[in-house]
Amino acid sequence: MTQDSLSKIAADLATYLKQQQDSGVEYYFAGDLGDPPPVMQAPPKPAKADPAPALDAEADPFTADCHDFVKATLEQISAYSQQAAAPAETDIFTREATASGSLSLTQKEAALAAMAAEVAACQACKLHSGRNNTVFGHGSADADLLLIGEAPGKDEDEQGLPFVGRSGKLLTGILKAIEFDREDVYICNILKCRPPQNRDPEADEVSACEAYLKRQLEIIQPKVILCLGRHAAMTLLQTKASLKSMRESVHFYHGVPVMATFHPAALLRNPHWKRDTWDDVRKLRALHDALVASRA
Ligand code: SF4
Repeated sequence: MTQDSLSKIAADLATYLKQQQDSGVEYYFAGDLGDPPPVMQAPPKPAKADPAPALDAEADPFTADCHDFVKATLEQISAYSQQAAAPAETDIFTREATASGSLSLTQKEAALAAMAAEVAACQACKLHSGRNNTVFGHGSADADLLLIGEAPGKDEDEQGLPFVGRSGKLLTGILKAIEFDREDVYICNILKCRPPQNRDPEADEVSACEAYLKRQLEIIQPKVILCLGRHAAMTLLQTKASLKSMRESVHFYHGVPVMATFHPAALLRNPHWKRDTWDDVRKLRALHDALVASRA
C-alpha cells in the first residue's frame, strides 16, 4: 500500500470519527438549517411496570447513564412524596392542595386566558412602561413538560410570544430532536415584560412577577420543568450555583423535578455547547416518559 493510500485512509477515518462525534448535535441543533433528518433514535420509553429497566452499560454508556439518572430521580420524587404527606398550603403542585388537579383542559385554557388578560394590564413593576407586548406563555395548558426562560427579548416583545426569532427556531429544533412539538409543551418566562436592552432581571421585578409564574404552574401542573439558561434556573431555584452544577443533577420546585440546560441564545453564540445540551434533553425526554408511564 502506498503512502498516498495510507494518508487517504487516515483522512477518511478522521472524517468518519468527527461525524460520529457530531452526531445528534450538528444535525439536530443546527436550528437555522431546517428540519432534522429522520434518523433520530427515540429515547428509552420505560414500561409502566418497570420505569427504569436494566440496560447494558458497556453496550450503550449514555443510555445506561440516562437510566441511572431516571431511576435516581424517581426515587427522589418518591422520597419527596412521602415527606410531603402533610403538604404546606404553598405546595402548589400537590393536586389535593389545589383545585387545579381536577380542571379539564378547557377549564385550564380558560384560566390561563383570564390570567393572560390580567398580565396584559399589569403595572406591578417598572418594566410595564417600556414594553410593546406582555409575553405570557404559549403551548398546551395540559403540558407535562414546561420550559422556562428568563425574560422576553426584542423579538418576543414585538410578537407577544415566547422564544421566537433565531433562538426560538433553535428551541423548536431541540424539541423536535427529542420528538416534541412546540404545541405539546408549555413555554414561558419568569418575567412577562422585556427588560430594557435585555439586561438581567432585577430582584424587585422578579418578586413582582413570579406570582404569575406560580399560578401558571398551578394551573398546568407539569410533570417536569426545564429551565433554559442559568438566570431562569437561579431565579426558580433561588440559588447562585453555576449552570454546570445545576445541569449535573435534578432539582425540585414544590415537588416537581427541575432540570437546567443552556439557553438557545447562548447556543447560537457558543455552538460547542450543543453536545452537552443534546445529552441534557435526551435525559429530559427519558425522565418525562418515565413520569408519564408511572402515572398511567
Ligand atoms: S414584568 Fe411582570 S410584574 Fe412587571 S409589569 Fe410586567 S407583568 Fe407586571
